[in-house]
Amino acid sequence: MSKTIIVSNRLPIKIERDEKNELEYHSSAGGLATGLGSIYKEGNNLWIGWPGLLTEDENEKAEITEGIQKESMFPVFLTEEDIRDFYEGFSNETLWPNFHYFIQYAIYEPHLWEAYKRVNRKFADEIIKKADPDDTLWIHDYQLMLVPDMIRQEYPNVSMGFFLHIPFPSYEIFRLLPWRKEILRGVLGSDLIGFHTYDDMRHFLSSTSRLLGISNSQGRLTVKNRAVMVDSFPMGIDYDKYADTAASPEVLEKEVQYRISLGDQQLILSIDRLDYSKGIAQRLEAFDVFFQRYPEYRNKISLILVVVPSRDQVGQYKELKEDIEGLVGRINGKYGRINWTPIHFFYRSFPLTELSAFYRMADVALVTPMRDGMNLVCKEFVASKTNKKGVLILSEMCGASKELSDALLINPNDQNQIVEAIREALTMPEEEQILHNTNMQNSLKRYNITHWVNLFMTSLNNIKKTQNSMQTHKLDERSLEKMLEEFSKAEERVIFLDYDGTLTGFVDNPREAKPDEELNNIMQNIVKDPRNKVVVISGRDKDTLNEWMGKYAVDLIAEHGVWIREKGKDWRTIIAMKNDWKKEILPVLELYVNRTPGSFIEEKDYSLVWHYRKVETGLGELRTRELTSHLKYMASNSNLQVLEGDKVVEIKDREVNKGRTATKWMEAHDHDFVFAVGDDSTDEDTFKAMPKDAYTIKVGSASSAARFSVDSYKDVRNILKAMIAY
Ligand code: UDP
Repeated sequence: MSKTIIVSNRLPIKIERDEKNELEYHSSAGGLATGLGSIYKEGNNLWIGWPGLLTEDENEKAEITEGIQKESMFPVFLTEEDIRDFYEGFSNETLWPNFHYFIQYAIYEPHLWEAYKRVNRKFADEIIKKADPDDTLWIHDYQLMLVPDMIRQEYPNVSMGFFLHIPFPSYEIFRLLPWRKEILRGVLGSDLIGFHTYDDMRHFLSSTSRLLGISNSQGRLTVKNRAVMVDSFPMGIDYDKYADTAASPEVLEKEVQYRISLGDQQLILSIDRLDYSKGIAQRLEAFDVFFQRYPEYRNKISLILVVVPSRDQVGQYKELKEDIEGLVGRINGKYGRINWTPIHFFYRSFPLTELSAFYRMADVALVTPMRDGMNLVCKEFVASKTNKKGVLILSEMCGASKELSDALLINPNDQNQIVEAIREALTMPEEEQILHNTNMQNSLKRYNITHWVNLFMTSLNNIKKTQNSMQTHKLDERSLEKMLEEFSKAEERVIFLDYDGTLTGFVDNPREAKPDEELNNIMQNIVKDPRNKVVVISGRDKDTLNEWMGKYAVDLIAEHGVWIREKGKDWRTIIAMKNDWKKEILPVLELYVNRTPGSFIEEKDYSLVWHYRKVETGLGELRTRELTSHLKYMASNSNLQVLEGDKVVEIKDREVNKGRTATKWMEAHDHDFVFAVGDDSTDEDTFKAMPKDAYTIKVGSASSAARFSVDSYKDVRNILKAMIAY
């Protein structure tokens, strides 16, 4: 039976040595572990990751492996060097600052990148040992971005999701990474790629388009002919856990105790891990300004500042800690009184019941990260407000701000705005607080952690189904064999071949797409058998088509069906053509060429084409939308058709298309085997015009009227070679 494997850098378990030097195991109660508990603890399912203990002792490793097996976990052991270069190095000093827009802190060291690759490989190898090809894998976070593709190489059909828990930066930031393409390719090994917000997803899609040239349609990409889905899944919290804990008698009692010792004052709460992305120092500066501007609040409010220790051996973090301590000291020294301390500072972590008492008791939560993938503290605060009173001040740079629009949203760089938000929060009428918290609680209840897990898993399942349904159209070995057999028995074989994208790949300059040696050989040989009647049917102008294909014993159809030339005869049109419309359309296209560097016009006998293959990514697409709506408006009263192709917009007479001309051609020729292959929307007309039992083949994975599909022009060449050899 197939199983599900969760993979993250760190396992949700803490292993410690007790005084007798024996190992003690403590499971983590973090949100992710709780949410995924419904998955990894079931049946044969597993969670793979680093157990968090450094050991080189093989016996101890065996003991840990066995010890955590009953918790459905499997360890990947990391060495001190791995932790230094892969975890603290590349993950936390390259990717973390870059992805959080702190590019001044990011270091780009080749040896750290090597370590990142090496440890990702280590994870992949361990996963491959444990996984079967039909398993479902879910890889988590920025430490393991190369793992998906490493696994895909081994298991091409495995079902695999990836989730990034931190922001994905704008392309302008991401492109600074020297290894940006490898990182993207690594992640694209997955079938489903999830982010917390639509913005993260949009940034990722823009990077894949600009750096790898892979464009998307509604979040769907095609990566080596595999459909990959990119979507946003804002992660929720275990709502009931926070609401229930806050309502428990134990927490109530704690709150009473704290309240008694703090006296009658309004409380502001701030809880973060020590990190420069959290904006703790900036928050303290704003707090200082608040007391200057509103001295009447001195003695009346206190800030409870919880900073959870993290990475404090690393230079930047050590400095940050010292900065915070300095600021706290300065503010307390400046405003404090014998019976009043402005800031109660804790540099440590607290168990859930104490946190919950803080959440309950705080009148205001001040959550002001400079950048945060999601931020759970703000959600936990809202969920803990059993009486619905309290105000959340939230940075708009947090993923959570997209969901919690009822909070007082601030820009963390705008000190004045933070100061005024504190004032507004402290004076907000209760009814208003209740209204906002009710809205936020309803949303948090609904989009809780279980919902998040289910939604992700369902989406993964869906994209897999889509892939499978596309797979059925693939021209597989059996269908190819059957086709070749019918081909061999036939006496009048008709072979329709589109040119660009079908017999050759795409190049920047369309003039350079002329046949190479392999294609020339194929054309020469396929027409040697008199039973083969080959028709090259293309959107190209007749002169180019003639120059490239005219030397072979084939029939030619040019300009999407405008011109036809049978072997040994002259070019003719199949209907009386007009092109007086060109003088109206040409100036419009010229306007767009003037405005769009890199674009150009191609003039064919009966059509006009605007090319934008060499235009800056994004700009070409933008102009295309403008141009097509402009042209469609102009063409609405005429018989013109506007076609969007691969980096081209073509305007032509509606009466002519490849299908009509192909039908005409078929009426005039006998046939007992029909084969037609093409790659773009204009070839759909050909496919539709073919008899039912014809072998119609689409190059690429978009939906099509063709019966079969193949991946690229290389497959088409192989089929033609097989026909020649049969
Ligand atoms: N937290 C904790 N003990 C503490 C303070 C915080 O367990 O003393 C938890 C908090 O409840 C929250 C998490 O740490 O679930 C912080 O998550 P968040 O997304 O806000 O920040 P991150 O540290 O992941 O950047």
